[in-house]
Parts: sequence; structure tokens; C-alpha cells
Amino acid sequence: MRIETDFDLTNYNSYRIKAKCKKAYFPENEEDIISLYKDVNSFIVLGSGHNVILSKEYYEDRFMILNGNFENHLVDEKSYIIQADAGITMLQLSEIALESGLGGLEIFYDIPSSLGGAVVMNAGASGEEIKDLIIKVRYLDLADMKIKEIENKDIGFEYRNSFFQKHKDKVILKAWLQLYVKDKSLIKEKMETIKAQRWDKQPKEYPNAGSVFKRPKGHFVGPMIDELNLKGYTVGGAQVSKKHGGFIVNFDNATGQDVIRVIDHVKSKVFAKFGVELEVEQRII
Ligand SMILES: Cc1cc2nc3c(=O)[nH]c(=O)nc-3n(C[C@H](O)[C@H](O)[C@H](O)COP(=O)(O)OP(=O)(O)OC[C@H]3O[C@@H](n4cnc5c(N)ncnc54)[C@H](O)[C@@H]3O)c2cc1C
Repeated sequence: MRIETDFDLTNYNSYRIKAKCKKAYFPENEEDIISLYKDVNSFIVLGSGHNVILSKEYYEDRFMILNGNFENHLVDEKSYIIQADAGITMLQLSEIALESGLGGLEIFYDIPSSLGGAVVMNAGASGEEIKDLIIKVRYLDLADMKIKEIENKDIGFEYRNSFFQKHKDKVILKAWLQLYVKDKSLIKEKMETIKAQRWDKQPKEYPNAGSVFKRPKGHFVGPMIDELNLKGYTVGGAQVSKKHGGFIVNFDNATGQDVIRVIDHVKSKVFAKFGVELEVEQRII
């Protein structure tokens, strides 16, 4: 297992915020993860770092990074079930499904995420969510250091929320996804169409971490931000995207604190005008 000291996290968070941690660990299998927790009881877990705001420039904490190293998978051609380690990307999984002629993962072709991160966040778009595919999830319970499995119905999936977001002492190791047979050309077509639609709307030219806020009931974040003329609002190197008000971009060496200050400003303006308390979707670390 790779272990790094004074590790630069810039390329491990999609905002590309410059930060370092004292130690970073890159486990390759379940045994690595268990042995790490036997030695030390606390890590900051990163999947692919596409939904985090690094608020500090230096972390004394130990980071455990899963994407890029913990990503074995198995396709069962008879039951159409894919099982995969938590660090595999949803992009990789969607491409594996395409090669196997299995539908269900097309939407995830353009949701930058690890499988574990997607389960924690109940990631999704256009009315589809990871919860629609998950059969069960295997995790390490740090409360008693036992490996457990939890079925879909018990994961408490809600809009961008799950059991795992509420219980931070559970580390997702693996998940089983139920797919279905589909014509490869139709799978490919759906993947490309969704990607093109999304790229048209999103500020791909600057680093970001997707939608900053959860969609409040009865409102849409983008139009509220438009109405308040907050597009382009800037603190340091962080800015409310001029292209899509629901995104904050790192347009010039932003720090995590710059991003957080932009968030605080947007939240207070939205509350003052609409009486809506915005909830931040991204995880501030
Ligand atoms: C351009 C762009 C577009 C996006 N579009 C969408 C979209 O359409 N829909 C959507 O839902 N999201 C979207 N997002 C947000 C992001 O893709 C999702 O939230 C994604 O699921 C995050 O996964 P991750 O692996 O990067 O998680 P990370 O950012 O690495 O982690 C997120 C949280 O999960 C925890 N975590 C990660 N892995 C594990 C694990 N194995 N066990 C326990 N905890 C874990 C982390 O500690 C952290 O709290 C977008 C992001 C970007 C940059």
C-alpha cells in the first residue's frame, strides 16, 4: 500500500484547492483498510474528492484515499449484477456496464464520483439516483470493527443523503448494483446525450465540485441566485459561476475559506430575500 508524507491534495479535490496532509494512505483492498484502522482510529476518507471543500491549508489528520487504488470489480453475466470496491469511479463502472451490454448506469457516465462517494451522497441526476440500482452495501463499522452488509431498504436513501452521511463511523467497502440487459448502442446514445446536455450548462472551464446547495423544496437555487444578481460574486479566488449560479468555481487560486465565504454570502442573501435556508450539499472538511 502506498503511503505518503506531507501529501499534496490539490489533485485529489475537484476544486483544486491547494492543501496538504501530514499522511495519506492508499489502500488496495479490504485488508489494508482494516489494518489501517487497527493502528489508528481516525482518517478522513476521500473517494474521488468531487464533493469536498478543503477548508484548511494543512491537515494534521491522516487521509485515506480510495479512488485509483481500491477498485476491483466483478460482473455476473447471468444475474446482471456488478459488484465493485468503493474506490472505483462511476465513469469506470458505466463503461464496464456498456461493454457488458448492461443498462442502468448511463447517467453516471458524467457524474464524477467514486462508487462509495455516490452511495454516501445518493448521487444522481434527471430523476435517477444510485439508490435505484443498489442491492446492498458492505462496510466496516468502526463502532465495533466488524464488517457488515446493509440492504438497500435499510440505507435510508433520501435526496442527496443516506445512512452513511449520518453515520460517519461507517466506511463503505463494496456495493452490489442490479443492472439490466440493454442494447449497447442505446446505452451509448443515452450516455453521450446526457453528457452533452450537462456540459452545455456546467462551468467546465474552471475547477468546481458540482452543485453547491441541495435543491430546497418548492424552489430552484439557480433562479434565486440569478434574481439576486449573485452570478460573478467573488471572494479571493472563488466566484459564483457566471454560467450556472448553482456552482462556485475556483477561477484564481481559491482557498477553501474563499469558497466558504462565498457560500455564507449567498446563503444570507437568499434567506433575506426568499426566507429559504439553503443547505450545503458539499462536504466541508
Ligand atoms: C462537475 C461536477 C458535476 C457534478 N454533478 C453531480 C450530479 O449531477 N449529481 C450528483 O449527485 N452529484 C454531482 N456532483 C457531485 C459529486 O459528483 C458527487 O457528490 C459524488 O457522489 C461525490 O463522490 P466522491 O467519490 O467524489 O466523494 P468525495 O468527494 O470523495 O466524498 C464525499 C463524502 O463522502 C465520504 N466518502 C467517500 N467515500 C466514502 C466511503 N467509501 N465510505 C465512507 N465515506 C465515504 C467522504 O468522506 C465525504 O464526506 C458533481 C460534481 C462535479 C465536480
